[in-house]
Amino acid sequence: MKPEPSAYVRGLPIGEQIPFSGDGIPGWEIFPFESDGLRVKPLEPPVLPEPPREGEDGPQECGACRKSDDQFLWTDEHWRLHGFTEPSSLPAMVMLQPRGHHDLYDLPAERAAELGRMLQRAEQAVLSVGGIARVHINKWGDGGAHLHLWLIGRPEGMMQLRGSCLPLWEDVLPEVDAGVWAETNRRIARAMAEGGGTAHV
Ligand SMILES: [Zn+2]
Repeated sequence: MKPEPSAYVRGLPIGEQIPFSGDGIPGWEIFPFESDGLRVKPLEPPVLPEPPREGEDGPQECGACRKSDDQFLWTDEHWRLHGFTEPSSLPAMVMLQPRGHHDLYDLPAERAAELGRMLQRAEQAVLSVGGIARVHINKWGDGGAHLHLWLIGRPEGMMQLRGSCLPLWEDVLPEVDAGVWAETNRRIARAMAEGGGTAHV
């Protein structure tokens, strides 16, 4: 049976013109765009049931599970750190994933207990690149069912790039030089391997 929209969704102003609040995020120092001329998109009706995410039907359909260890920056028995071949516009960006096909809610207890230490190690590895003031860690998970935590380096001194708008800045800034990016990935992989596991770049 088709799920019914929740009370929350039924209360949303779907299809209506939503007024633009001048003191919201577009007015913040960290928002990357000039707010003149911005409008809020009308909300589209809910899609229920939601379409499956990539890998929702299990490991045999999951792109993350199908990847071999040499497609990651670093791996160990239970965790893998994914890097990006194409440069980002930010100084460092990686994704931490469990080897097994799990989301956070169904991550086995042993892996869940390791997650804090793994995030700490990955943050330390990203910081070891240098010139990074903070590592922003995000879990969205709307695209892929296999747990993936983003670690995004915020360049030191760039106060406009603080906080939750960093992924928006990533979209507009110029790409890092490919050679610099490859060396960044190697440094992160080596820093991870110092605590165990294998670097692959
Ligand atoms: Zn998977």
